[in-house]
Amino acid sequence: MQEILEKKIFDVDEIRKDFPILETLSNGRPLIYFDNAATSQKPNSVINALSDYYRNYNANIHRGVYSISIKASEAYENAKNKIKEFINASSEREIIFTRGTTEAINLITYSYGLENIHEGDEIIISEMEHHANIVPWQVLCQKKKAVLKVIPVNNNGELVIEEYQNLLSKRTRIVSLCHISNTLGTINPVKEIIKLAKLNNPETAVIIDGAQAIQHMPVDVMELGADFYVFSSHKMYGPMGIGVLYGKAELLEKMPPYQTGGDMISRVSFNGTSYNDIPMKFEAGTPNVEGAVGMKAAIDYIESIGLKNISTAENELLAYASEKLNEIEGLSVIGNAKNKASVISFTVNGLNAFDIGVMLDGSGVAVRTGLHCTEPLMDRFKIAGTVRASFAFYNTKDEIDVFIIALKKAIEILS
Ligand code: PMP
Repeated sequence: MQEILEKKIFDVDEIRKDFPILETLSNGRPLIYFDNAATSQKPNSVINALSDYYRNYNANIHRGVYSISIKASEAYENAKNKIKEFINASSEREIIFTRGTTEAINLITYSYGLENIHEGDEIIISEMEHHANIVPWQVLCQKKKAVLKVIPVNNNGELVIEEYQNLLSKRTRIVSLCHISNTLGTINPVKEIIKLAKLNNPETAVIIDGAQAIQHMPVDVMELGADFYVFSSHKMYGPMGIGVLYGKAELLEKMPPYQTGGDMISRVSFNGTSYNDIPMKFEAGTPNVEGAVGMKAAIDYIESIGLKNISTAENELLAYASEKLNEIEGLSVIGNAKNKASVISFTVNGLNAFDIGVMLDGSGVAVRTGLHCTEPLMDRFKIAGTVRASFAFYNTKDEIDVFIIALKKAIEILS
């Protein structure tokens, strides 16, 4: 019975009907969308939730005494509650809405970082980080004369854990790493990484960039023991312009505000201002209510399919595409970690990734080309960029077949 149920859930043809964009054409061909790591497509339930909000209860929140404002406020709070449950945070107070992963990391660096990092302190990141998890730390280190240390990546695209252990010292104050690499697909052993940081010094703050993990696998922040966990709605079938900073309440309570203005205050006078309690202390100004509503709808959608089912389907697509790509002469997959999500980066001998991407677009296949905001990783592998195909559960093996044919044709023409 369970098997039948799972098979039914995995009727990909049915699932695809939930995503109107998958029925469109691109350059006269059916759109084959393999750029899910950049942003995912949106199901009808998310699109409808956004439309319903604007059609029926658009109002500013937290200050209205009238019905639609109360309804909008409730929807905003319900979204927080949903996210709290989804990542198993201990309270809604630990969920802060941001513009996305990038703003969440900037919030941590400007608030926690400026307060807690001092000259000579050390911050550990890795060679596979997205620029969003590099540049804010560089800026902080420059401001505070702190030291940025980088965990190397091996030839398979995995973190060298022994090197990480060597980097941990009594000056380590922060460790900030991605859960899954957006370029290599590597799933990092974050639970072990957090444990090692805490064993070295329980006061070290560990930040996990979950931008590429939250849509692929169950995340339990309490089980992981992360101090902060950040992600973006738009990569998890929700709208753009909103994301989440999860932080342990005991840390958030001690942190100064990141932005100031309305909503984040408790009392304002010209003699001084007192701040609101968390999470509102970190949510200055009118929040993205529409985004919160859409993000809740996206999580509802994910839950209706099941993250376990999603990862099973995506793993199958990854295995199938990897096998087909590895058969192509002159093609090298960059990132062959044992534990990998449905992201494949590759180069083709003598060919420019951009040219391949343009040719694939002519066949309706959307892939990403270039540095993927991970320039230091490209330097590590001594390459100028890759072609990246990233799959979601709504993709199919038939689409991969079309992609492989188009890729072979592109290679033939460009060679
Ligand atoms: N970290 C990782 C691993 C990512 O893949 C991305 C998006 N490509 C980001 C951070 C930044 O996310 P956003 O642009 O949504 O802020």
